[in-house]
Amino acid sequence: MKILVPVKRVVDYNVKVRVKSDGSGVDIANVKMSMNPFDEIAIEEAVRLKEKGVATEVIAVSCGVLQCQETLRTAMAIGADRAILVETAEELQPLAVAKLLKALVEKEQPQLVILGKQAIDDDCNQTGQMLAALLGWGQATFASKVEVAGSQVSVTREVDGGAETLSLSLPAVITTDLRLNEPRYVTLPNIMKAKKKPLENLKPEELGVDVKPRIKTLKVSEPPKRSAGVKVADVATLVDKLRNEAKVI
Ligand code: AMP
Repeated sequence: MKILVPVKRVVDYNVKVRVKSDGSGVDIANVKMSMNPFDEIAIEEAVRLKEKGVATEVIAVSCGVLQCQETLRTAMAIGADRAILVETAEELQPLAVAKLLKALVEKEQPQLVILGKQAIDDDCNQTGQMLAALLGWGQATFASKVEVAGSQVSVTREVDGGAETLSLSLPAVITTDLRLNEPRYVTLPNIMKAKKKPLENLKPEELGVDVKPRIKTLKVSEPPKRSAGVKVADVATLVDKLRNEAKVI
């Protein structure tokens, strides 16, 4: 069984992002970029399924600029067998990515696609769902446990106030939540090995997909600044402030 894992190159989660002065977006010039954390979890899960003998091949795919190759090399250092870059300088929105992934699914015929539940840059939480709809496959989002048995996969997912377990027929789409696993540390020997693994480069036109944006960002703005805190003299003042100023009790 082949597993396809889409990985997105995003601003590193430790970076404090700055909004551009004209409000047109976030400034990513000279900012550290990394693999989307949920996608690291997706690669880790796919590699574990391969190590258990459930999967035979793990293919990482990234859509975007040439530098996404670095993200793909990281995926291969974690354990993906090979990678595909769909290279474009166009701004990619979830529907465009889902269409590219659909074309790759048709080409590669995986039984499982494991995506992150959301990309931490756009916070869309849409690509996996759109891909499942375009393919007509079952989907289990926000997975915290995945078990494959024959032609079925059982997925435990986090829902409000508890967990829900679903059974899906393969092929299927799964998106990962934080608690699914803890991705392994990438070692130097594995980084070196990853440099020799195959990385294919495709263009959206070769997959017959029009990736033009359908949505226009009108404005991006910083959240309002938080005002400074105050020290209160005693509990009575605290209760008074909570009741009369903050009006929360
Ligand atoms: P989003 O719908 O943008 O929040 O992204 C959800 C998931 O879709 C991510 O965690 C990735 O697994 C996948 N994804 C989104 N954009 C890309 C991209 N440009 N290249 C590869 N995978 C992507």
